Amino acid sequence: MGQVNLTDVRKEYEDVVAVEGMDLTIEDDEFVCLVGPSGCGKSTTLETIAGLTMPTDGTVEIAGLDVTDKPPKDREIAMVFQNIALFPHMDVYENISFGLRLRNYDDDEIDRRVERAVEIVQLEGMLDRSPDELSGGQQQRVGIARAIVRQPEVFLMDEPLANLDAKLRVSMRTEIQRLQKELGITTVYVTHDQEEAMTMSDRIAVINDGELQQCSPPLVCYNQP
Ligand code: ADP
Ligand code: ADP
Repeated sequence: MGQVNLTDVRKEYEDVVAVEGMDLTIEDDEFVCLVGPSGCGKSTTLETIAGLTMPTDGTVEIAGLDVTDKPPKDREIAMVFQNIALFPHMDVYENISFGLRLRNYDDDEIDRRVERAVEIVQLEGMLDRSPDELSGGQQQRVGIARAIVRQPEVFLMDEPLANLDAKLRVSMRTEIQRLQKELGITTVYVTHDQEEAMTMSDRIAVINDGELQQCSPPLVCYNQP
């Protein structure tokens, strides 16, 4: 269902080729990390899947549909960014349900989805708090819940843990992995953190200078005692 297919994707800005000849298939339910040096084209690749950037050439398919010319709202995706940017004047419930209200879901459906999402990210009892009454990790989980309520086929995450302290980063990694497997959501995850990529992904896509170098499972080395 939630397969992502990039075929010969190229993205050119006025003076730079950000992505070139990108052929990448992310299987249904798979967790793929995009890694590579700063400026190699990770975000551009993710933004192309999201529909935030239109490719200069090539096609993007999501869940079997050619979405190359479609805006983000017509793609079966939800995004989580590094800067979660919760609405400060809205409580947790309002922040999580905002996207559903925009799309005119009825109140019962919204309540059901929010309740389930809050259970999944373990924020029960915090629905009427305002963002400034939450820790960094809790805010991040609100951001994830906001994506989950959409019930997307595909999660797109751009360094979602980069602003958290080391301890929280490790526990949130486990949480995101658990969620991804539990919900079976195809996930494309941009990170510059090698360890994060090694521990979280089914496959790691290495990008260099706009081109995909390889996409393969993390190589685990066992040291002899
Ligand atoms: P990464 O996410 O790996 O750091 P990006 O995808 O953000 O890389 O950027 C890839 C290249 O494209 C870089 O050289 C960057 O400066 C350039 N780039 C990205 N976005 C734009 C833009 N909106 N306008 C011009 N150049 C851009
Ligand atoms: P990251 O390395 O985390 O991808 P960047 O600083 O490369 O972050 O990019 C952040 C945002 O700025 C992206 O949305 C990208 O499209 C945009 N951007 C990056 N480089 C340029 C550029 N040279 N000109 C205009 N926008 C850019």
